[in-house]
Amino acid sequence: MTADVAERPEDALAEPVPCSRCSNTALLTIVGRCADCISDMGRNHPEEREAWRREVTAAIESRAE
Ligand SMILES: [Zn+2]
Repeated sequence: MTADVAERPEDALAEPVPCSRCSNTALLTIVGRCADCISDMGRNHPEEREAWRREVTAAIESRAE
C-alpha cells in the first residue's frame, strides 16, 4: 500500500492570488486582474482595459515561444 492520498496536486492549481488592481484575493486572475476588475474596466475604464489587453497579448505571445 502507498500513501498517495497525502499528495494533493489540486491545491497547487487553485491557489488564491491577490489582484494587482483591487488587492482582493481571487482564485482566477488574468495577468494579475480579477474578474471583477476586468468587468469594471470593460464598463468604466476603456483605456485601462486596452492597456490590460496589450499585457494579455504580450503574456500569451511570450508563452507561445
Ligand atoms: Zn481586482
